[in-house]
Amino acid sequence: MTVSTDVRAPLAVLGHDVQVPLASGEKVTYAALDYAASAPALQRVWDDVAAYAPYYGSVHRGAGYLSQLSTDLFEQSRRTVADFLDLRDGDQVVFTRATTDSLNLLAGALPAGTRVFAFETEHHASLLPWRREGVTVQYLRAPRSHGEAVAALDEALAAAADGPKLFCVTGASNVTGELWPVAELTGVAHRRGARVVLDAAQLAPHHRVSVRELDVDWVAFSGHKLYAPFGAGVLAGRSDWLDAAQPYLAGGGASRTVAREADGSVAVEWHAGPARHEAGSPNVIGAYAIAAACRALTEAGFEALERREQQLVARLRDGLAAIPEVKVLSLFGEDAARVGVLSFVVRGWNSSHFSAALSAEYGIGVRDGLFCAHPLVRTLLGGEDAAPSECGAPEPSLPGERSLNAIRVSFGAGTPEEHVDRFLAAV
Ligand code: PMP
Repeated sequence: MTVSTDVRAPLAVLGHDVQVPLASGEKVTYAALDYAASAPALQRVWDDVAAYAPYYGSVHRGAGYLSQLSTDLFEQSRRTVADFLDLRDGDQVVFTRATTDSLNLLAGALPAGTRVFAFETEHHASLLPWRREGVTVQYLRAPRSHGEAVAALDEALAAAADGPKLFCVTGASNVTGELWPVAELTGVAHRRGARVVLDAAQLAPHHRVSVRELDVDWVAFSGHKLYAPFGAGVLAGRSDWLDAAQPYLAGGGASRTVAREADGSVAVEWHAGPARHEAGSPNVIGAYAIAAACRALTEAGFEALERREQQLVARLRDGLAAIPEVKVLSLFGEDAARVGVLSFVVRGWNSSHFSAALSAEYGIGVRDGLFCAHPLVRTLLGGEDAAPSECGAPEPSLPGERSLNAIRVSFGAGTPEEHVDRFLAAV
């Protein structure tokens, strides 16, 4: 494992001087431009986890010193995440495996008869978990402006029957990087009696997310996109639906008491609070790593992160605009505000071949495909027939035909200008 020499403390990341082989046999420094899939870990996260690793022990109910220490750190991590998200009194933080897991957990906690509303442009993790018995899902057509999105939601909710409602929205698109008007959409949803869950998988690594200010009811994000390792994520927000629901996983830790009844059956009393949905031995290191990332981002300040990132976004946007064969994909217009995520196609090029060439000839790691957002990418590419069967499946088209896939470049903390410049030169 090598550590970045490109120190932008305190947001230096690991791995920015990894050498990778090119097709020619030569070696170059890897340019990691796939942060939207998984970001490298912050040096600070690595250091904090390494400092804790020798001391970790069983959590919850362990009598030994290290068990108590681990329990304290696990619960402190929960409080750190609550502060990071600026939660309200009474909200809770449930540790999950990632955003997909968080949204599935919430989907399982919906009151019977809930109507869920989501734009068809969502990532599959926010689009699909709601399709279950007792829940009705209404997908809204892709809007082409913030105003259109707000009006479409208002209209759909106004026409909806009474009963519990949930609106699910992403804060920043994993395809275009474009920001969604979360506060406005939440205002409309609340006026119409619907609750809101924010998919912050792509937003939280780039912008401060205040649950209190945005007024969303729940928020979900993944540790591995927030400069922490894989395997841990967060669902945070209102306790009432979560405490009334069946536990996400049944097992030890979620159950308060289990007793044999006279008739031979077993009666279970479940915990309320996060423990209800965290059965089994929790991923303490994962939770601790997320908290370390939250601390590092808070201490560094999102303003500094955003300022630097927006310089790189402008550099990338200008550089691509100067290449006539490149078409940048966008729902809200090419000048729309976006985080450091951008997808494009190159006229006459197969996107999969193009991405493979960036890797083999230049040591640049991007991603190609439909990015687990098939309806959105199809809309952006202007065709219903762009339909590979899996996330990121290789593009079936031939060079010269209309693109069926796109190329995505994404970055964040610790990305040197040189990576963006090398990418532009290669394109
Ligand atoms: N939502 C968005 C907007 C995403 O970009 C992703 C990951 N690509 C997810 C949800 C799912 O995250 P995970 O794979 O960590 O569960």
